[in-house]
Amino acid sequence: LLAFVASTASADGAMRAAAEDVRERALADPLAWELLESLTTDVGPRPVGSAGMERAKEWAVARFQVLGFENISIESFEKKDAWLRGPESAQLTAPYSRELAVLGLGNSVPTIQEGVEAEIALIGSLAELRAMPEGSLAGRIAVLNWRFDSAQGEAGYRAASDGRRDGASIAAAKGAIGFMLRSAGTSSGRRAHTGVMRYAESAPRIPAAAIANPDADLLERLVARGIAVRLRLRLASRLLPSTTAWNVSGVFRGREDPDAVILVGGHLDSWDNSEGAADDAAGVAITMAAARLAAQARVRPRRTIRVVLWGSEETSGSSEAYAERHRDEIAHIVIAGESDLGAGRVYKIATSKCAWSDPHLQTLTAVLAPLGIQQDPVAADFGGVDIEHLRKAGVPVVRLSQDPREYFDVHHTADDTLNRINRRALDQNVAAWAALLYVFAESGVDICSHDD
Ligand SMILES: [Zn+2]
Repeated sequence: LLAFVASTASADGAMRAAAEDVRERALADPLAWELLESLTTDVGPRPVGSAGMERAKEWAVARFQVLGFENISIESFEKKDAWLRGPESAQLTAPYSRELAVLGLGNSVPTIQEGVEAEIALIGSLAELRAMPEGSLAGRIAVLNWRFDSAQGEAGYRAASDGRRDGASIAAAKGAIGFMLRSAGTSSGRRAHTGVMRYAESAPRIPAAAIANPDADLLERLVARGIAVRLRLRLASRLLPSTTAWNVSGVFRGREDPDAVILVGGHLDSWDNSEGAADDAAGVAITMAAARLAAQARVRPRRTIRVVLWGSEETSGSSEAYAERHRDEIAHIVIAGESDLGAGRVYKIATSKCAWSDPHLQTLTAVLAPLGIQQDPVAADFGGVDIEHLRKAGVPVVRLSQDPREYFDVHHTADDTLNRINRRALDQNVAAWAALLYVFAESGVDICSHDD
């Protein structure tokens, strides 16, 4: 027994040393930055249904090949109603004329060519909008003015996104002829923040756009003076009834148990108004680089590491398609994770609650500690939009929480550019994911599913 305990202990010691080595090499490895620089420069904006997304797919395959990934696969799926932006503008028309910085929301119907022009009704919150009496917004452009503060972090973004998703249909049901949303982002510049919205079946489909924070501030000040404020909104867009999208993946096969899969990735698609550096070229670069570092440990890990680059996150579709395609493999996916919050530093790791009793995960915690990452005793109830359908099918998830402050200033805006990425923070992300992948793949740790 003593000999067994001693050999297990030394095996764990060796694993820890190898994981620390992976972590240290990651901090000095230029690969993630090179991938990020290339995806943002060589490919550019890549909304689903665009030529940019097709370039992104080719880019992913070529990079997987160059980096030595195996079993590279392109899984195509049908994307219905791919939305592509056209020219957009807005002007204040009363009490005086002034351009307003706006961005159409994804899935919005276009306006007629001369636009929609009306007096605005400023509404403080989604709850307030819901509570308004029927007909109270007749003939108005409803402006949902809920303010998302960076101190609220991801929870604030979720609340702002609820208004973005549902606001137009709720306003339309009360008579509004247009909908505008104070940007669901924290930028103080005149950069509006786009994102997806949805129409309810029951309400008329009215045009929907976001307005930049300083311009929403102006509307607020004018309304506070008791002045009738009017604006004109012009939106154009195209809807492709059906197009092809792709989830692209590659693996490093495990040396002993190749059917057991540790699955991570980011999403290849982006909004159209920038190169999508933080959202989500960073996640793509971080997970590709981390997987290669983990696979190049002193000894190739026991289980397979798979990187999936999802092809339709922003307007949805890739999560469902991936889970459906891999339905028969669910039991073999040990754990899934996604990097999709830019390159802000990781400060916390969460997974299924019961997993922490496994000593291998305590080893991982020890390896992550010098990076400033703490173990979260609360179970991860979410791992990323693209692994949500895997999670619902029973796949355990792991989540690395990141500092969201810079992210919410830039993502979904025209400022989501390479110069806003902090390279040291990017490297810290790579180190965290690489060590994590190595320990999950090498140790044989078994993670219970999230609801166990
Ligand atoms: Zn994203």
